[in-house]
Amino acid sequence: MKTGFKKISISKYIELYLKSNPGTKRKKITEGLKKALKAYKKGIKCRCGNPIWVIGSAVAGNACFTCITGEAHPDNDYEIAEACE
Ligand SMILES: [Zn+2]
Repeated sequence: MKTGFKKISISKYIELYLKSNPGTKRKKITEGLKKALKAYKKGIKCRCGNPIWVIGSAVAGNACFTCITGEAHPDNDYEIAEACE
């Protein structure tokens, strides 16, 4: 169970992402998110053993929040709702 994240749906997150990263192709972020969510559901873990952070893994490769950001805990960061269970 992941805590500290703000839950968001994939489609809503894609809109937010494209707004703040206008150079990114919709297809690229959509496929990245789907791939990361699939990996999460398969039980793939970060190299440190934590569950992967789907939103970060979509662009950075499968890893957890801490390994991607260097922060210990999320602070109002988003995570796909399906990956928050
Ligand atoms: Zn990690």
